[in-house]
Amino acid sequence: MASRSAIVTGAASGIGRAIAQRLCDDGFDVLAVDLEPAPDGPGVPHAADLTTREGNRGAVATAVERFGRLDAVVPNAGFQHVAPVGEFPEDRWDGLIALLLTSPFLLARYAWEHLARSGEGRYVAIASIHGLVASPYKAGYVSAKHGLLGLVKTLALEGAESGILASAVCPGFVRTPLVEGQVADQAKAHGVSEDEVLEQVILAPHAVKRLIEPEEVAGVVAFLLGPGGRSFSGAPVTMDLGWSAR
Ligand code: NAD
Repeated sequence: MASRSAIVTGAASGIGRAIAQRLCDDGFDVLAVDLEPAPDGPGVPHAADLTTREGNRGAVATAVERFGRLDAVVPNAGFQHVAPVGEFPEDRWDGLIALLLTSPFLLARYAWEHLARSGEGRYVAIASIHGLVASPYKAGYVSAKHGLLGLVKTLALEGAESGILASAVCPGFVRTPLVEGQVADQAKAHGVSEDEVLEQVILAPHAVKRLIEPEEVAGVVAFLLGPGGRSFSGAPVTMDLGWSAR
């Protein structure tokens, strides 16, 4: 039987790279999609700007053409912008909605018939604990991630009859370049040092005071794509070190 195939977006860095690596290790054919793909990274590199319809359509078409099937879609590409709402740049809002919400919709839209044909199609979006709770200065990100959870619930209902399962992984803070960038931005927004941001802002909502490793998120995605994930659909899979327990 041919290997299962997967699209992972934002696969050049951080969580996406760890997911692409894990799925390759698990025997998937992986299309590793990124604005700037890592030539030495896991999977087949594919350059696309996922804020465009063409970028999303091209990624699905390339995976199907290259692997002959598409069994899993993992929308993960993202960025953050930290600013008070009264100063939040409108273009950054548009960009966050385009990448964090519209791209996952477009990928589902274009991949749907292929996931249905798979018979065991899986859609696992990398959302965030910010899909469930808010933090100040993150209006665009929090809004997009809450919307992504709505999309995942809808896909779960629509996919059930065709064997497609849809979940949203919701991590707390993960050790990646995105978080490293936020430390600097938050230091500016709160007017404190970067060390203070890590202790007092980044890790403050975690009951367990550590960052999550990208490989831990990849492990949850691998579980959801495997036989153990068969009962998970339409729900957030929270891994937040106690953040939302309060
Ligand atoms: P990262 O910055 O390390 O990687 C993001 C990747 O997305 C980069 O390789 C980047 O090139 C790519 N990308 C950006 N814009 C793109 C575009 N227009 N088209 C295609 N690719 C594009 O980030 P990360 O921390 O690994 O985050 C990955 C996902 O995990 C994001 O959706 C993020 O919201 C989510 N997440 C991260 C954390 C965390 O603490 N790091 C926590 C919860 C959820």
